[in-house]
Amino acid sequence: MSGAHAKLAPSASERWINCPGSVKLSENFPDTTSIYAKEGSLAHKLGEIKLKSRQFNKEIDAKEYQKIQDNELYSADMEDFTDEYVEYIEAIINSFDINPFIEIETNLDLSFIAPNTFGTADCLILDGDTLHVVDFKYGKNVEVDPTENPQMMIYALGALKMYDGLIFDIKNVTMHIVQPRKNNLSSWTVSKAELLNTLETVIKPKADEALSDHGETKYGDWCIFCKAKPICRAYSERFNPQFKVDNPKELSNKEIAERISVLEGMNGYLKTLKEYAVEKALEGEEFPGYKVVEGRSARKWTDQAKAFDIAEGAGFDHSVLYEQVPLTLPKVETMMGKKTFDELLGDFVEKPKGKPTLVEDKDKRDNYQIQTVWDDFKDLEAEE
Ligand code: SF4
Repeated sequence: MSGAHAKLAPSASERWINCPGSVKLSENFPDTTSIYAKEGSLAHKLGEIKLKSRQFNKEIDAKEYQKIQDNELYSADMEDFTDEYVEYIEAIINSFDINPFIEIETNLDLSFIAPNTFGTADCLILDGDTLHVVDFKYGKNVEVDPTENPQMMIYALGALKMYDGLIFDIKNVTMHIVQPRKNNLSSWTVSKAELLNTLETVIKPKADEALSDHGETKYGDWCIFCKAKPICRAYSERFNPQFKVDNPKELSNKEIAERISVLEGMNGYLKTLKEYAVEKALEGEEFPGYKVVEGRSARKWTDQAKAFDIAEGAGFDHSVLYEQVPLTLPKVETMMGKKTFDELLGDFVEKPKGKPTLVEDKDKRDNYQIQTVWDDFKDLEAEE
């Protein structure tokens, strides 16, 4: 789903609902896009043409398909992950007795939240009194949870406004996240009444606050993609805490946990501040005690292929000029595609136990299991 250029973009709704002040604070920062966003858009396009070809029972549009395959961000893996997305939707469709109503890549008017707000729903399926809203997520870093997910609720509300009463009276909405690169296929069902209540009591008031000049700023997980970070006081205060000391000589476990939580983001914050200061200093602004100089750089070839041709011509053998290095496991998987990789090489892959790592207790992974001598003994017994 997308809603890129809207002032209150649905994709940023977790941020502007929790920190309405971020909208005004970030309005002078230019819009940027990342390579991950471009890769996600390409995967969505591939998913869309596959879904449409199945929906209308016709061949995939060869021209569009070729365009996608020619893109430098395309990989064999993208085929597998988009197949998984299409198969998930087919499973929903096949669970009904009769063919449901389906819409792919539907533009949604979300101006009931704020002027000029819009978005695109990846796939909507309407059957009887239940509306299914399917969102294809191509990210592989943060697992997306559909439960009370504000972006999903906003799209569900947009779809409700469009379709409720048109064919059926909708009573419930099921929101699905298909995030194949995280093995995350999850869903959450909510009643229409609850959704409308969230719109009136949370989403709309927060949207109004975000568009006003007195929006509150509040630090949280949602800061991660906020462009206002370098100038935001609420964000900076997280790194300037007045730690209370229980015992003047020894830190308690609670105090250690507090310091870990605060200091964890320090490197990222420092990088953000420095990047901002360099950009502004180059525009002529001053940061007392600092100046911008030319950083260190390494020599590089202007034309490596030509240089190596000359070296070979001068008698330096190809084998001494080039190293042959095997591809890493993830690169082999991307090159072959997940399915082929699993079939061909799956037996040669093992995942060793990871090192004990300290994470916040909201992390979904199970607690680390300590292997004792007794466990080793049991393993031996089992082998005998
Ligand atoms: S950095 Fe965080 S606290 Fe500051 S405006 Fe952005 S979202 Fe709000």
